[in-house]
Amino acid sequence: MRISIVTIFPEMVEVVKKYGVIAQAVEEGIVEINVVNLRDYTTDKHKTVDDYQYGGGYGMVMKPEPFFRFYESYVEKYGKPYVILTSPQGRVFNYKIAEKLSKKRDIVIFCGRYEGIDERVMKIVDDEISIGDYILTGGELPAMVITDAIVRLVPGVVKRESVERESFHQGLLDHPVYTRPYEYKGMKVPDVLLSGDHQKVELWRRKESIKKTIMKRPDLFLKKELDELDKLAIIELFKELMKGC
Ligand code: SAM
Repeated sequence: MRISIVTIFPEMVEVVKKYGVIAQAVEEGIVEINVVNLRDYTTDKHKTVDDYQYGGGYGMVMKPEPFFRFYESYVEKYGKPYVILTSPQGRVFNYKIAEKLSKKRDIVIFCGRYEGIDERVMKIVDDEISIGDYILTGGELPAMVITDAIVRLVPGVVKRESVERESFHQGLLDHPVYTRPYEYKGMKVPDVLLSGDHQKVELWRRKESIKKTIMKRPDLFLKKELDELDKLAIIELFKELMKGC
């Protein structure tokens, strides 16, 4: 997979590929992350990327030509990519969108600044993505969020079992996790996790996932299609609740 992030602040975005599993995936050649300086696609000596807004009003607008120039040279080199525009007006990013995007071969992400990008750039945009209902000063943080979430879902980047367990994958939040020491400030690790009984551990984890999801994100739980383990775990949850009666 190749992801190219187009920005006027390349140094800000470079860090996305420098740490943890993402850095490892880049090193192993599983993904290629390119940070592109939009100013390299300008033609004037000041490398201008913005201009005044037609119709008047406060704030500058990013010019269309550098985006089109970048896009045309990219298509010539690699073929047509899937182009994402970071924008507070886009569909709100989530796990499902990240999963779908992780299957694409070539992704380009445009980072806006100022009042946004000239509307004509939409002609080369396939998808408009927001990372939430608030306004940031630029698209660099959204591009990094999107890249991180996509790359960790690319096969080979994070262990499959680990991805399958995490929050949202199965429509549930992740179960609680513990590490050593066994006892800390009077708080002990649940005994079931030391039992060595794999099935019991799985059932306990699912029960705890369901409990967390109902408490923190009931909206997710209402959408969940229950499998056999869910049903058994719900029975366990009821037993637990009945003990308190
Ligand atoms: N005038 C625009 C509006 O109200 O829709 C906001 C422009 S914002 C100050 C500048 C750039 O930051 C946007 O073009 C976009 O690239 C990025 N941006 C800001 N908030 C964002 C969000 N919630 N999600 C994704 N990108 C965002």
